[in-house]
Amino acid sequence: MVYGMKIKQLAVALFSLMLITELCAKDYLVDTPKAYEKAVKNLTAGDTLKLANGIWKNFEVVFTGQGTKEQPIKLTAETKGKVILSGQSNLRLAGEYLEVSGLVFKNGYTPTRSVISYQVNKKEFANNSRVTEVVIDEYSNPDRFEPDYWVALYGKNNRFDHSYLAGKRNKGVTMAVRLSKKTDQENNHRIDHNYFGPRPVFGSNGGETLRIGTSHFSLFDSLTVVENNYFDRCNGEVEIVSVKSGKNILRNNTFFESQGTLTLRHGNGNVVENNVFFGNGVDHTGGIRVINRNQIIRNNYLEGLTGYRFGSGFTVMNGVPNSSINRYHQVVNASIDNNSFINVEHIHLAAGSDQERSATPKNTTMSNNIVYNENLKDAFSLFDDVSGINFNGNVRNKVPNAKITEGFNNQELTLVRAKNGLLYPEDIKAVAGIDRSLMPIKKSQVGPTWYAKIEPLIEFNSKKSTVITPGENSIFNAILVAESGDKLVLAPGAYHETKILKLNKVISLVAQQPGSVAITFARATFIEIVNDGSLQLSDLVISGKEAPDSKGNVLIRPSKWGMYKNYRLDMSNVTIKDLDINNNFHVFVAGSRSLATYIKVTGSTFKDISGDIFRLSKETDDLGIYNADYLIMDQNVFENVAGALVDLYRGGQDESTFGPHLVFTNNIVTNAGHDKRNKTKSVIKLHGVQVTAINNNHFTNTAPITLEHTVGEPISQIISNSFTETAAPKVVELYALGKHTAVLLNNKQTK
Ligand code: CA
Repeated sequence: MVYGMKIKQLAVALFSLMLITELCAKDYLVDTPKAYEKAVKNLTAGDTLKLANGIWKNFEVVFTGQGTKEQPIKLTAETKGKVILSGQSNLRLAGEYLEVSGLVFKNGYTPTRSVISYQVNKKEFANNSRVTEVVIDEYSNPDRFEPDYWVALYGKNNRFDHSYLAGKRNKGVTMAVRLSKKTDQENNHRIDHNYFGPRPVFGSNGGETLRIGTSHFSLFDSLTVVENNYFDRCNGEVEIVSVKSGKNILRNNTFFESQGTLTLRHGNGNVVENNVFFGNGVDHTGGIRVINRNQIIRNNYLEGLTGYRFGSGFTVMNGVPNSSINRYHQVVNASIDNNSFINVEHIHLAAGSDQERSATPKNTTMSNNIVYNENLKDAFSLFDDVSGINFNGNVRNKVPNAKITEGFNNQELTLVRAKNGLLYPEDIKAVAGIDRSLMPIKKSQVGPTWYAKIEPLIEFNSKKSTVITPGENSIFNAILVAESGDKLVLAPGAYHETKILKLNKVISLVAQQPGSVAITFARATFIEIVNDGSLQLSDLVISGKEAPDSKGNVLIRPSKWGMYKNYRLDMSNVTIKDLDINNNFHVFVAGSRSLATYIKVTGSTFKDISGDIFRLSKETDDLGIYNADYLIMDQNVFENVAGALVDLYRGGQDESTFGPHLVFTNNIVTNAGHDKRNKTKSVIKLHGVQVTAINNNHFTNTAPITLEHTVGEPISQIISNSFTETAAPKVVELYALGKHTAVLLNNKQTK
């Protein structure tokens, strides 16, 4: 009886306690930074602090407190998605069991090193805390080489999930897990269900999407789990995910048309499993690159990947004997099992073998994988001895003369796409390749449900079409009122522009009838492409005869400095002439730190030009930076050009980019490059260009082509050209020993 009473009393006591805590858990709504700062000081476990809906400009949020596992302290929006942090805003957390949700960062950039940081300073950081359903959208520093992180994880047992990160354009990893303090190591962080949206080509090192650790602390374990994330066109640089620490798990992530690879760059004992890579044949789409010890790569699905060398669908690297911490550790004891490589163009083993990287992979197995290439080409390239890799139980379709014979069963393979969207052998008894239960994470399953996933690019001619009539400044006036994506159709006649067109929209200028529109301009520049601008020109005739009689005019250029958004320039069937009123009248000059996604010129004529055609050589500080990712010139005519047609420069020895690329095909070039002011002394001058195709052109009386190879084993072809009264192409290797590696074939030299 006495015993029973005690139980009853205890129950009453417990009930009252719960009531008290519940009564104590408070909700606060604040609408100014001052009110926030006051409220945050008084938060106790279970409290929720809400920011009022609206735009909070230049608000540096410091969120601190001591929650408990059962009762975290929460910071959220009055309505999720309706609280916009803009201008110079950021968020820092420190304490225990904090939870942030519902905030949107846009229209600005962080004034500090991170947009969201799990520490306030080195001594105050967050543990057991969560940031969920936040958005960082185009929140890039406009100085593209000013580095920051969007999310920096410190402390232990933190989570970042269901968030949206898209459009990072400035230098710095989108999301970094930091390990530099003892209190950050063996952290058990979880990064899950995030939308890593499009990250444009950065054009230099520092464009990774996720990095875990740094080389310096890479022998420490991070124990971070990265799962169920969607990487959508994360094209920043060669590494999409860069693992630089030990014992991380990366599983069930989808990589969609992302240029680059998941790289196990430093650190040992990582697990990469159940990930899905869809390349869809896009240039430089890659898969997984293996370096270091005890890495497990199993049950991954890789399809339609075109990447090669270190950007291959699958790469096992050679190491450096007794490597320093930041070079390449030998691959030892890797397990590469039950993966499906479907139409993966390149699998490179012992990659990077050279005098320094001479340690071949050891004690490694590659078993029960499927390697299927419908073009019947052997995906494998072996760069050194691979006897340290034990191949067994792998299945391959019937590839003739395959380089690896043992451990592969060559058989007729018919693949069928299953309900999960992945290809499996028709013969369901086949044990090789991925498991049937693999379910790729979908775009719709990641990020906050309340934030739409925005398509980043506005295509040319994707909106309305407007006819404009000839006259003074009629193009300028039409662009002022146009919408991005519009096409302006120029009625026949003469157009004269007295102002520089500053183009911050995606605009097509098209003649109503080819050749019926003549454009002149009175300033030193006709069009300046600024942030958000892209230009398409077709069927126009543009003359420089009304331009000022001064040196160094430029027909079209991006901003001279400070462009952080990549742009596109597309010209077809355009005639450009009389750019010769004075010396050095150039067609196009890149600005410092500007990057063209592509410049494409087809079917056009360039005549009587006193300067260069494409001058893309502003980045002379040799940091692996350059001005155009793709320059494509096809079926054009060039006549009487004093300067170079192309001056494309990427200096330095960094290997973090896939570009620049040059395609120069089917052009007729007469009398070009001879002027003494042409410092390149070349008709085409390429320095550090990674991929070059100069094919099927006729050069008559021009300066020579000059190629300077730097790093990255560039692929250069000069094939089937005719050179009349033109010196033969010159190719130099600036760093590699021995003969140059360019392919010169079927070129016809006359005189
Ligand atoms: Ca990098």
